[in-house]
Order: sequence, then C-alpha cells, then structure tokens
Amino acid sequence: RGEATSARDVVDAVNPPRSDYLQLEGLAKAFGATRVFQDIQADIAQGEFITLLGPSGCGKSTLLRSIAGLTALDRGSVRIAGEDITHLPPRKRGIGMVFQHYALFPNMRVADNVAFGLRMQRVEREARRHRVEEVLRLVELEAHADKYPHQLSGGQCQRVALARALVVEPQILLMDEPLSALDARIRRHLRDQIRDIQKTLGLTTLFVTHDQEEAMMLSDRIFLMHQGRILQQGDAEQLYTRPVGRHAAGFMGHYN
Ligand code: ADP
Ligand code: MG
Repeated sequence: RGEATSARDVVDAVNPPRSDYLQLEGLAKAFGATRVFQDIQADIAQGEFITLLGPSGCGKSTLLRSIAGLTALDRGSVRIAGEDITHLPPRKRGIGMVFQHYALFPNMRVADNVAFGLRMQRVEREARRHRVEEVLRLVELEAHADKYPHQLSGGQCQRVALARALVVEPQILLMDEPLSALDARIRRHLRDQIRDIQKTLGLTTLFVTHDQEEAMMLSDRIFLMHQGRILQQGDAEQLYTRPVGRHAAGFMGHYN
C-alpha cells in the first residue's frame, strides 16, 4: 500500500496487544479485622494507562503493593499475559514500582541508584552503563548522572525513581501518588512527561492518585475506588457524565 510502517506496527501485527494483559481476579486483603479491599476484578489491556482514583484510606496503596508482591493477598489471583504471578516474589514479577517519596538510596549517585536493579540481575558493567545512560536520557536527567539525591529537586528525584523502575524493562509499571509531594508547576510537567514516556514505551501502567484532574488528564481508563471496592471503570468522560451511584457522583464533583 506504500504506507510507512513503524516497527511498532510490525510488532503489533505479529503479536497484537492483549486486552486481558493484566488480570486481577477476586482480590481481597484484610489486616486483622480491617478489610482493606475485596472483590477487585479487572482486565487491563497491554499498553493501557489505568488510574486508580479514590479518597485517602480507600485501599489504593495496599492494592498496588499486593499486585507488586510487597503485601500478600488473602484471596484472588494476578495474571500477566496469562501467567499466574500471585505467588512469585516481587523481583520475578516483571513489575516496576514508583512511590510517592522516591525511596532513593541517599548515599548513591543518580547513575548507581538507576543501575541498582541491573546489578541485582547481574547485568555486566558495560551493558549496565549503556542501559543507565539510555534510561537517564529518557527521563531527561543525563546531565545529573553523577549527582547525589540531596543535590536534586523533588521532581528530579521522582524522575530518578522512574528511571530506576524502567531500567529493568518491566512489563507493568505501578506508580503510587508519584506527583503528590511536588509543587503544582513541577507536578504538571512531570505528569505530561510520565504520559509521554508511557506512550512511547507502550507500557501497561497502573497509576494511583486521589486527584481527579490528574486522573482525567492521564488515563485511558479510571477505576474509581471507594472503601476497598472498585465502584466504576470507565474513561474520564464516562465517569464524569455518567457516574454510577451516589459516591461516584460525589467524588467526580456532582453534589446534587
Ligand atoms: P490509600 O492508599 O487509598 O490511602 P491504604 O491502602 O494506604 O489506602 O490503606 C487502606 C486501609 O488499610 C487504611 O484504613 C489503612 O489504615 C489500612 N492499612 C494499610 N496498611 C496497613 C497495615 N500494614 N496494617 C494495618 N492496617 C493497614
Ligand atoms: Mg496511599
């Protein structure tokens, strides 16, 4: 047909993205008598950007940590590309995670923070250096490779954290309120940068926030959470124009 075809189109034609790439099936978790979440059910497509949106305390962080394997589930299963990963240790799940407060190693330079996951995988030195450079370019921090975290701004620290998560080429990226500690201008800039990188990599992403605007700007779909349940799954317009139930309406800003 004489049309230009991108490498991604070729890959997609051979191996089309799955609409059930990340499957959450009947997930439940309690701490003692406190039920944190239950009946969590979702199919997430490859390359999709999903936001878990809900007020503080509704169970978002615990759900994310459970998917990452940092917290054990009481019930349910997590599958990636059909493989049941429910009982795999975190580092074998192919999942990268970014936290609100960066969690960088303060005594390591930026490049060493980013290289950490590669060291754990015993990637050899030259390949490590090459990959770290590549990822630092992606987050626009190549000029800061030799600095320590305390020499960076909050936004830059969060980009290091993002680079550190991406360096091992995860299949899934989880982000827990990565923008919440940043001031408004930086927050918007990093928000757009996260979205660009996610699109460029075609990376399946689960992003947690309590901020409706952030969810609206970023997401292919929003999962609205309330008291440990997903009330509604839909795109920003569906949630805004057709909220299901009183809580969804209230949280999306309809107070009638
Ligand atoms: P969110 O991220 O939406 O603010 P969390 O997942 O942090 O919600 O917390 C949900 C509920 O689970 C809260 O009531 C919280 O107090 C409780 N919780 C979270 N972690 C623990 C824990 N390790 N032990 C006991 N209760 C916890
Ligand atoms: Mg939280």
